[in-house]
Amino acid sequence: MTNNFVIVIHGGAEDKTREDIGPEKEAGYRKGLAEALEAGWNILNNGGSAVEAVEAAVRSLEDNSLFNAGRGGALTIDGEHEFDAAIMDGKTLKAGSVAGVKSVKNPITLARTIMERSEHVIISGEGAKAFAEKENLELIANDNYFTTAEKVEELEKEKQHKQEEVTKDTVGAVALDKNGNLAAATSTGGLTGQHKGRIGDSPLIGCGTYANNEVCAVSCTGDGESIIRAVIAHEVYALMKYKGLPVAEAARQAREMYHDKIEKDRNLIAIDPAGNIALEYETKLMFRGYRKGNNAPFIAIWED
Ligand code: ASP
Repeated sequence: MTNNFVIVIHGGAEDKTREDIGPEKEAGYRKGLAEALEAGWNILNNGGSAVEAVEAAVRSLEDNSLFNAGRGGALTIDGEHEFDAAIMDGKTLKAGSVAGVKSVKNPITLARTIMERSEHVIISGEGAKAFAEKENLELIANDNYFTTAEKVEELEKEKQHKQEEVTKDTVGAVALDKNGNLAAATSTGGLTGQHKGRIGDSPLIGCGTYANNEVCAVSCTGDGESIIRAVIAHEVYALMKYKGLPVAEAARQAREMYHDKIEKDRNLIAIDPAGNIALEYETKLMFRGYRKGNNAPFIAIWED
């Protein structure tokens, strides 16, 4: 065991200014990020695994209605919640993922349960819900728990094409534990007004989520279609493994990959086995934070 352990989180990336968000909401975001960071950090500090830490950090963000995952998740065009989430263990290269599931309080825990207790990587929709039931995970039938007034308003604006930008506050975490293991986790409500059944990048291994102890762990946020087509998370891995790039440079080059042909934003967090990190984004803000060993936590939203 070493004392080199790190947790990095994101709560999505958007094109909003400080004025757009306002001081009250900004404080709420900062508090939510701090709580999620602490949840993951405590596990690592106590010798827990990277997988446990990323799950705990993401669960905390799923339970926070400010972020677009679990409670407070985006609504489809039909006004429903369909959650996507994935987790990957860099030690075993096992992965678990859930797509388009409803009523499951913590989709990331379902993803981990799929990873650990099934033969599969991705389970979708009704099948995923049935798996959650079988495994006694917490289900919430009442949509009022998940739906916030803000997300209803956003859907209305989206329907009227009044929205400049679709809200994207997907959440994610990557971690390095005291035993040198990496893990990544991502969870989202998807895009406001998305088609029923649409699946984004978050649950697709190598697109929005990837971890491999040898090279890196990555969690993405942004336009899912863009991230899928550019296979961003695995691209970070490939640039590091085959080109020998440091994690920050690999993250930057992956983000720019084929951007002339593939539009819309990609943003990500990444970590390497030495605990070096990347917080790479092209929007005005990315809700983000990290804590390395016993150093003070770092939390930021805009560039400053
Ligand atoms: N990437 C997510 C998706 O397309 C959205 C986000 O990052 O906010 O479903």
